[in-house]
Amino acid sequence: MPEGHTIHRLAARHRELFAGQTVRVASPQGRFAAGAALLDGRVLLDTEAYGKHLLHHFAGESTLHIHLGLYGTFADGELPAPAPVGQVRLRLSGARHWLELRGPTACEVLDPVLVAALRARLGQDPLRDDASPRPAYARVAASGKPVFALLLDQAVVAGCGLIYANEVLFRAGLAPTTPGRAIGAQCWDELWDDLRALMKEGVVRGRIDTVHSAHTPEAMQRAPRVDRHGGEVYVYRRTGQPCLVCGTAILRGPLAGRNLYWCPTCQP
Ligand SMILES: [Zn+2]
Repeated sequence: MPEGHTIHRLAARHRELFAGQTVRVASPQGRFAAGAALLDGRVLLDTEAYGKHLLHHFAGESTLHIHLGLYGTFADGELPAPAPVGQVRLRLSGARHWLELRGPTACEVLDPVLVAALRARLGQDPLRDDASPRPAYARVAASGKPVFALLLDQAVVAGCGLIYANEVLFRAGLAPTTPGRAIGAQCWDELWDDLRALMKEGVVRGRIDTVHSAHTPEAMQRAPRVDRHGGEVYVYRRTGQPCLVCGTAILRGPLAGRNLYWCPTCQP
């Protein structure tokens, strides 16, 4: 599933292509026909990302809410748009560009009350300027759940996904099973700051790199990682490979229903 940095990149891209324009909205597949009819011909005022949720705000207090889930994808290009092929949930056209959405988990029109309710369900998003680590820490410090699960809980930290959760715990030298209530305020602030910095870099690069400069392929004179997710990481999907810091084999195991990867030496 795309992590928050991808959604922030999409929000910026869609703002650049469509903000301030009157847009045509359609649902070639038909499943979003009623919602598309509501938005068609309106001005797309602005876009924003909140965690893994993408919001397109339209004139008339209507917001298009999209969650890509596991299978959702966007495509865009310059007009004229190609004929829709396959299951296109949403087709949006502006002055010069088109946008297509396939396979999302959510594609719906929300009014301001429902947008507020969505935000209220979500935790703090480290990529947003209005974010603060304090509300997240209040929940972490009150919980007996593993910090790994808390990082992945969208009601605690919005936008953090599996790769960032695994990597930020490695970088902190923290055992992923550490219960939230055992995490001190300063430790949480450091985790938050590191996560925020990594995710901001992800927005710029469009991929997730988490290794320090001493552990890049060039610095270590090793081959770059080969993985469809791209990016240089310490533990994510590196089961059985040597830790880049200490050489211990990276372990994998289920935790909170998700794939946890960790170095048993660096994260005792
Ligand atoms: Zn290690």
